[in-house]
Amino acid sequence: MRAAVFHGPFDISLENVPDPEIKAPHEAIVRVLAGAVCGSDLWTYRGQSTAAPESRIGHEFIGVVVEKGTEAQDLNTGDMVIAPFRYSDGCCVHCDSGWPSSCVNGGFWGWDSDGGQGEYVRVPYASATLVKLSDSPGLDAVPDLLTLTDVMSTGMHAAASARIAGGESVAVIGDGAVGLCAVIAARLLGAGKTTVFGGKHPDRNALARQFGADEVRTERGAEAVQAVQEITHGKGMDVVLECVGSEASFDTALAITRPGGSLAYVGLPHGAKIEVAKLFRTNVTVSGGLSPARRYIDRLLVPVLNGSIHPGAVFTERLPLSDIAKAYDLMDKRETIKVLVTP
Ligand SMILES: [Zn+2]
Repeated sequence: MRAAVFHGPFDISLENVPDPEIKAPHEAIVRVLAGAVCGSDLWTYRGQSTAAPESRIGHEFIGVVVEKGTEAQDLNTGDMVIAPFRYSDGCCVHCDSGWPSSCVNGGFWGWDSDGGQGEYVRVPYASATLVKLSDSPGLDAVPDLLTLTDVMSTGMHAAASARIAGGESVAVIGDGAVGLCAVIAARLLGAGKTTVFGGKHPDRNALARQFGADEVRTERGAEAVQAVQEITHGKGMDVVLECVGSEASFDTALAITRPGGSLAYVGLPHGAKIEVAKLFRTNVTVSGGLSPARRYIDRLLVPVLNGSIHPGAVFTERLPLSDIAKAYDLMDKRETIKVLVTP
């Protein structure tokens, strides 16, 4: 089969690799219908992660089961399935507590397992990992469904961790796919006035509004803090959803959360630190982390399948898998929000 391979910084290409084979009875083989490039893949692409040369890559895919082991009893060949960005056994102490993201037998796609940017994926613990669709929803639904593997489930984790209950003022920091999906999630939970702090890309700002943002701001750092002081008459935001992960973004998020407010973070941390004394003085609650995406997929399938949300609009480019190098280049240069790739 063909799959994307990371050779080294700024060097990813489609290569012929061994076909996956079932090695344990709990596994299944999935033929990928669509995969995606994630903002967090760019850390690998830029050489800022620990991925070894010749690693497989990609952790967002949906597909069809083509083979299954004897213990994958909940699945049948032909089932259309959504894979969360991490596999999990569904039965360990952490899975039992609702945290498949911390599964003791879990792992990420790519690295030493098959990646989502390829033709086929061997799926460990397939019955527990994969969410199967009862009816085949048609190809139009593919982009929306594909977001459930990561970005929409991660945006939902931000909003759910912040315990949005209805009517709160919400700031979303970041206008990448996760930040944009966090706007949808905040709206689903009944957020009040929602402000996105993004950049100067008109396409991202338009999508933020389409997803339900009331306002899109371009200020950063001290200027963003000043803007929030003005917008909220000195109070600060009830809820802040941090969807970047940088130190600067985290500092801004903390500075614009009102005393007693809630800050949830889902951006992959790179350099962010929390000064506990600041939390002490403000009574801000900090929550969030790696999304237990498997837990959110069932819940998000309802609004996706009834057409009330369309997170798939974050895919501003579709390319064949053979153009995987171009897909990374476009994402790296921020010339597109997110790329959907099809084998
Ligand atoms: Zn587990």
